[in-house]
Amino acid sequence: MKSVAIIGAGITGLTAAFYLKRKGIPVTVYEASGRVGGVIQSLRQDGWLAEFGPNTLLETSPKIGQLVRDAGLQPRRLDPDPKAEARYVVRYQRLIAMPGSPLGFFTTKLFTAGAKLAVLREPFRPRRRDGVEESIAQFVVRRLNQEFLDQAIDTLVAGIYAGDPHRLSLTHAFPKLKALEDNYGSLIKGQIFGARDRKKSGEVAKDRAPKFSFDEGLQVLPDTLAAQLGDAVKLNTTVTRLTQIADGWALTLSEGRVPRAPLIAHEIGGSQSSPLRKETQTEHSAVIYCGTAFRLAELNVMCGRAALPRSPEVGAAQQHRPTADNELEPLDLSPFSEIRYPPVASVVLGFRREDVAHPCEGFGVLIPKIEGFKILGTIFSSSLFPNRAPAGHLTLTSYIGGERHPELALLPAEKLVALTCEDLRVLLGVTGSPAFQHCVLYPRAIPQYNVGYGRYRGLMTEIESKAPGLFFAGHYRDGVSLGDTIVSGVNVVERVANFLETTDKPR
Ligand SMILES: Cc1cc2nc3c(=O)[nH]c(=O)nc-3n(C[C@H](O)[C@H](O)[C@H](O)COP(=O)(O)OP(=O)(O)OC[C@H]3O[C@@H](n4cnc5c(N)ncnc54)[C@H](O)[C@@H]3O)c2cc1C
Repeated sequence: MKSVAIIGAGITGLTAAFYLKRKGIPVTVYEASGRVGGVIQSLRQDGWLAEFGPNTLLETSPKIGQLVRDAGLQPRRLDPDPKAEARYVVRYQRLIAMPGSPLGFFTTKLFTAGAKLAVLREPFRPRRRDGVEESIAQFVVRRLNQEFLDQAIDTLVAGIYAGDPHRLSLTHAFPKLKALEDNYGSLIKGQIFGARDRKKSGEVAKDRAPKFSFDEGLQVLPDTLAAQLGDAVKLNTTVTRLTQIADGWALTLSEGRVPRAPLIAHEIGGSQSSPLRKETQTEHSAVIYCGTAFRLAELNVMCGRAALPRSPEVGAAQQHRPTADNELEPLDLSPFSEIRYPPVASVVLGFRREDVAHPCEGFGVLIPKIEGFKILGTIFSSSLFPNRAPAGHLTLTSYIGGERHPELALLPAEKLVALTCEDLRVLLGVTGSPAFQHCVLYPRAIPQYNVGYGRYRGLMTEIESKAPGLFFAGHYRDGVSLGDTIVSGVNVVERVANFLETTDKPR
């Protein structure tokens, strides 16, 4: 009985492993680092709870809530304080609440009369029909105006991708916005008339999706999935080579601890291997790659014609004959190294309540580039969920870096704290020094679905057809949000199960 190999114990890999196991298909999860969860990292310390990676999970698909229930986590799910709905955007150095209704939009001070007029004109703008791939910035300026780009979209892009709106692709990074124009001819008309279609599909728009976490932070989810998988999760094990054999894939594993970066680097393995590492081989019926695009580029993948899908006419002896080395050819995965992953530093600071002038009731604040601050935005973490800070204190989680200021993310922790405190002083009236501070650097945080990203997605589809039994899933393929990656992990299970059934692999 050969198991399915899953490379990467981030949320994608663990979700896929969890559901394959529930289908009775044996799995083995290989994880380069010494922990599960990938970029998800929650830290409980002295009454504080810090989230360094994602803070909230948006329930954009029924598959997300289903995973929580299937994992038995419903009692530990935390829905945010209803008061925490307010989101703020900075304009003229001050926080202004984002409007929550059409009436609110027409009365807000966040946008000028010009921007409000642009919204009224939007349904009458012609749709683009020449098929040219646009950046989100080009699209927004074409359909709305520059102010919308600077004030709204720039912050949205910073909040989701830590990206550059002039480079991010409308088609790949914001497919739902593109679909509104394609299907309804307008964003406004699509918002109104698309509601029924969205209801039918069960999908919920990101701005309306319920968000949640767990009592001890998002880390609860990967930890619970991993606990249910037990010995099937192999930590400190980097997959370095995949070789196609007649009845599946041979994996070369490099086992042993890898050195940690000075700040906690979430993703380690590959080229950072230490001389103490041990190499072993193992065989699997199929492989799901749930790592990162930049590590994918370092994988050595050999596949050959003899291992193409077997038809019933092929004799059993031939089926189980390993493909001879000289029939194998290396796959060129180097293009995946071109995918940009700018660095992001998370700075989690705790303050005494009386040291913060702003009430900080709400989700948090997003900061447009034109306002000239160093931080990209701040989440009011302890207003969002209970038990994130000791009594009389609050936790603020800020992000630095991304495409806006990649060099700043790499500063030493004390500088990150100092420049965050300075921005928070101006924005929220923070005085005094933090009672709790923790920084984590994600040297390569979030993949940028820039214009031209279709080339990489196309390549993955091509490789999957060239190398049957090798599957790709995760944040670099199916969307960067936690919800997208869970859905990706759920969906790949069906593809793998179908493959195993049609190729009649031994299980
Ligand atoms: C700072 C930050 C904040 C975020 N905030 C939010 C948020 O608030 N809401 C939201 O919805 N999303 C957020 N995201 C995005 C979301 O968290 C990620 O897209 C998602 O968690 C990625 O999961 P994944 O399993 O696809 O990849 P990862 O979490 O990157 O996991 C991949 C795993 O594969 C392992 N691996 C790679 N190569 C190999 C190999 N060769 N052998 C063995 N193991 C390997 C890695 O070590 C890693 O553990 C945030 C991301 C970051 C970085």
